[in-house]
Amino acid sequence: MRYILKCVSCGRYTLKEACPACSSKAVRAVPPKYSPDDKYGSYRRQVKEETWMKEGLL
Ligand SMILES: [Zn+2]
Repeated sequence: MRYILKCVSCGRYTLKEACPACSSKAVRAVPPKYSPDDKYGSYRRQVKEETWMKEGLL
């Protein structure tokens, strides 16, 4: 499974470990409202990734 990464410097979302915009390190992006106890969490994460794709962030 591929994870969405976020640049620690400029905040750009990417799938690469190095930001394509500024070459800084990118770390895994965590959905802000994610809860491990939420049984619908994985579904919502999938929806979120689809939203990012539609916005051209992936
Ligand atoms: Zn960056």
